[in-house]
Amino acid sequence: DQATGPLLDIRAVTKDFRGLRALDDVSLSVLPGEIRGIVGPNGSGKTTLFNVVSGFYRATSGQVRLSGRDTTATRPYTLSLLGVARTFQNLRLFSHLTVRENILVALDRTRTHTIWRYVLWPPGVLRQERRLRTQAQELLDRFGLADFADTPPGSLPYGIQRRIEIARAMAARPRLLLLDEPAAGLNGEEVGQLAHMVRSIRDSGTTVVLIEHNMGLVMSLCEQVTVLAGGRVIAEGTPPEVVASPAVIEAYLGD
Ligand code: ADP
Repeated sequence: DQATGPLLDIRAVTKDFRGLRALDDVSLSVLPGEIRGIVGPNGSGKTTLFNVVSGFYRATSGQVRLSGRDTTATRPYTLSLLGVARTFQNLRLFSHLTVRENILVALDRTRTHTIWRYVLWPPGVLRQERRLRTQAQELLDRFGLADFADTPPGSLPYGIQRRIEIARAMAARPRLLLLDEPAAGLNGEEVGQLAHMVRSIRDSGTTVVLIEHNMGLVMSLCEQVTVLAGGRVIAEGTPPEVVASPAVIEAYLGD
């Protein structure tokens, strides 16, 4: 049933890089409205999993399904149109643009361009321009970025830059938001603000999957956690369940 089934369904996915098996028979499914945590030691395949789900890598075998639709071979651009957005471990903001312009660029990518629109109907283009500006302002207000709108991101605290990146991913109004280590480099107060932001994103109807090393954040934010080690799922459950799992303790001691 599509209405009650998983939003994201990863089935027996394996990803090989030449001799290396980065993902080994990984299955996991995420229900609509979840905040799912993906944890695991370095090199356990977490980012590879994001790359497979967002279409940057193609699974060697297995299947990825989005709301029941097979997206295993779907390209990143098409996946973004289908409602998958992501952030990266390293910030990818345009440092020479303002915060507002960074958001506008992301909004602009979500519409289709044809040169004929400009040639045939300039008033329509101007109206669309105004609509984009309104949407950008809404995103700036919603994520507490309005005060920094006309500043280039590079001069702002790291925590704000992270927030800009998430706001930019939200410009596409995704159904599924993949966050790759969103708390990396943040101080305690900024981690609290991030948690608040992620909850409000989920409450507005976007399902969230995050890779995170900050276990405090994972414990407070995620209902379900999936633990990877050596490219395999070694545990899954509530945060207290996985933390108590012998397989998890062993994987981290060996790290
Ligand atoms: P994690 O995100 O958990 O730290 P990764 O998914 O980045 O782990 O990496 C898992 C394994 O796959 C590592 O051994 C890494 O070196 C390897 N790997 C990841 N991407 C590539 C790639 N593009 N080419 C070759 N090996 C890769």
